Amino acid sequence: MKDIIDGFLKFQRNAFPERVELFKGLATQQSPRALFISCSDSRLVPELVTQREPGDLFVIRNAGNIVPSYGPEPGGVSASVEYAVAALQVADIVICGHSDCGAMTAIATCKCLDHMPAVAGWLRYADSARVVNEARQHPDQPTKVAAMVRENVIAQLANIQTHPSVRLALEEGRVTLHGWIYDIESGRIDAFDGHTGSFVSLADNPQVHAVSHQARHVA
Ligand SMILES: [Zn+2]
Repeated sequence: MKDIIDGFLKFQRNAFPERVELFKGLATQQSPRALFISCSDSRLVPELVTQREPGDLFVIRNAGNIVPSYGPEPGGVSASVEYAVAALQVADIVICGHSDCGAMTAIATCKCLDHMPAVAGWLRYADSARVVNEARQHPDQPTKVAAMVRENVIAQLANIQTHPSVRLALEEGRVTLHGWIYDIESGRIDAFDGHTGSFVSLADNPQVHAVSHQARHVA
């Protein structure tokens, strides 16, 4: 814990004074441009990877970067999505999975989660991706896990579109959905191209997106 408190003291001494004007402007309002949904994994830091400052990203993090479909008992993720889209009016939503994801590895390798019933229950929201993943042939386990990570991002992109706030925002052409996969070792990001249904290098294809108002009419 000491290193965390030392970090805060360093923030107070250096990082905060450098941003005193930024924080002054943010003291009573926020206008983030994007909703960023990622895994809780300690190795994926949205603000670091996208080089964003406080106030830029509205972030939801959970095991497996999961967005439950909209339903009769909406939970914290649904509430945060609704607030970001309906109240804050974010222009972009990024669902970002990552390499070596523990949650996706557990699913893809059928790891017994009886001793972690909350995790097991939560990961059921990735069931549609699991079924697709299991129906396909994979040469080895790492390939199967990597495919599961991709399939899960695609499934969560579908889930989030069951949320009425997102549906309306898409129809009104004021939000674009992005599906990313961050590779921890290389720092590379692959993005889902909704037109081709495949993942491509984000660096080489910065315009690529999963779903947008335009895409719905082209498709
Ligand atoms: Zn993960």
